[in-house]
Amino acid sequence: MHFKLTEEIISLSDSRTWDFAKLEWDFEFAYYSEELQTCLCGHFPIKNICVIRNKRNSNQTEVGNCCINKFLGIEDGNKIFTSIKKIKEDNSKSMSAVVIDYIYSKNGISEFEYNFYVDIHRKRNLSFKQLEIKKRINNKFLAFTSYETNSHFNRIKLVLKWAENNSWFDKSFVLSLKKSCERNGKLTENQRLGLENIITKLKIE
Ligand SMILES: [Zn+2]
Repeated sequence: MHFKLTEEIISLSDSRTWDFAKLEWDFEFAYYSEELQTCLCGHFPIKNICVIRNKRNSNQTEVGNCCINKFLGIEDGNKIFTSIKKIKEDNSKSMSAVVIDYIYSKNGISEFEYNFYVDIHRKRNLSFKQLEIKKRINNKFLAFTSYETNSHFNRIKLVLKWAENNSWFDKSFVLSLKKSCERNGKLTENQRLGLENIITKLKIE
């Protein structure tokens, strides 16, 4: 199992040895998948998915938290999964400071929401209104780290990557979808259909 992971990671890295190849990778994103997936190591099923990114060649790949800890020494993913689990059980609870920081750095919440959350983070007695806002932000976090959202982001990324080699293509619509996805945590059904339409019509794979 371990062997398979190292092979896969090395094939996506510049270095040809594991000790150096693994240092090329940074944590990029984490999400919780309702759909069962297979880790690079072959482990099945995994639901906690970490997206990691190669600092040298910008390759991206996904691994389960089984491997993120053992091999790559990237800890942030786990903190995110702990907060996802906690808030799924009770959305009046708080996400951890690292996670708030993370979600803000990814434009998952607005500056107002970030400042609000930092303010009330340690407070026990919130007013009804404060609690409502907190829950709303928590739900935004859950949406942002859901499989649905991330498949939307991945579809958008796919088109933008393709557009790099097809400069005639007007990216403005897809960029507006990306903005909207960042703002709302996901695409509307019409936006999603529009995006899929482009992918099918232009035979993007
Ligand atoms: Zn694994």
